[in-house]
Amino acid sequence: MIPTKHTQQMPKIELHRHLEGAMRTETLRRFAAKKKLTAYHYQNPAQFRKHVEIGKNDKKDLLFFLSKFINVWYSSLEDVAQVAYESVEDAAKDNVLYYEMRFNPEHYAFVNNFKRDVVARTVIESARKAQKKYKNIDVKFLFTLNRGKQTIRDMEYMFDIAKSFNIDGLIGIDLAGDETNFPAKQFKQFFKKVKDAGLFGITIHAGECVGPFSVWDAIHYLHADRIGHGVAVSKDKKLFDYVVEHDITLEQCLTSNLQTGAVADIETHPFPKFYHGGVNATLNTDDPSIERITLSDDYAIAAKTFKFSIEDFKQINLNAIKASFLGFTDKEKLKERYLSAFAQFEKSIAKKRRA
Ligand SMILES: [Zn+2]
Repeated sequence: MIPTKHTQQMPKIELHRHLEGAMRTETLRRFAAKKKLTAYHYQNPAQFRKHVEIGKNDKKDLLFFLSKFINVWYSSLEDVAQVAYESVEDAAKDNVLYYEMRFNPEHYAFVNNFKRDVVARTVIESARKAQKKYKNIDVKFLFTLNRGKQTIRDMEYMFDIAKSFNIDGLIGIDLAGDETNFPAKQFKQFFKKVKDAGLFGITIHAGECVGPFSVWDAIHYLHADRIGHGVAVSKDKKLFDYVVEHDITLEQCLTSNLQTGAVADIETHPFPKFYHGGVNATLNTDDPSIERITLSDDYAIAAKTFKFSIEDFKQINLNAIKASFLGFTDKEKLKERYLSAFAQFEKSIAKKRRA
């Protein structure tokens, strides 16, 4: 079995991580103290954690999980810049070589009514600063739009901002939120525009806690290149075959799926079924700070539960590179960089084994 320290050292690719779920609890607590948000018990670190993280004994429920995405913390754009910087720093320290950071500018802008485009630039520029310091990580960006919290007009506004951006690095659009009450069909016209523009990759949260139809709809109505979660694909043979045949990537997240109740336990998670069944399956955290995990932790869980070997993890990361929203040349460069880092990693663990 692969020890956790090895999964930590292993170079990794992260395609599905929300900035809103990847902010340090301690930083949020300091923001809360600055704003004197007593309702969140900032004076007591253990109590504060309960507001923003999932505890071991908490109920396994999607809406409960979503309730941890609180947006009252920020007083200034500096606060927004700080969380973006720290998120890249944390990923770099966990040996993430390539991080597609997804974020919803609305989350950071709403309370103070900051300009959405300014928020987006703040996040991107701050992440870039961190990237300059931690040279081993490359970061790209996706705008997340929320099914339940944003109107089509809001989405179009964000799409206009995305199109007008001349910052290199915004490469995808993501749809997240409550898929039960806000089915894909109602976003059909909007995603047709995104697809027709041909500027961004499309990833849709679907089949997380809802059945296979949600994934079918994400593919047919919203032109999904990738599916966030897609746990339900395992429940529909036709859909499974379709996903394999059309090379639709599944962004799988283990701990997240357990905490939202998408799966009853890790042992029955469909990840190995996808991976061994020819799906372009990738492994991701989703919201590491809410889940109290790192990507290395989820890798260690996969190693232990599914008996994955070092070679399996290499393949999972190559799957992720293939599915990234990078252009062809950048993908090739990343693959080269990854394979070289992986070879180094293998050498270093072989040395430790001999010692
Ligand atoms: Zn997600």
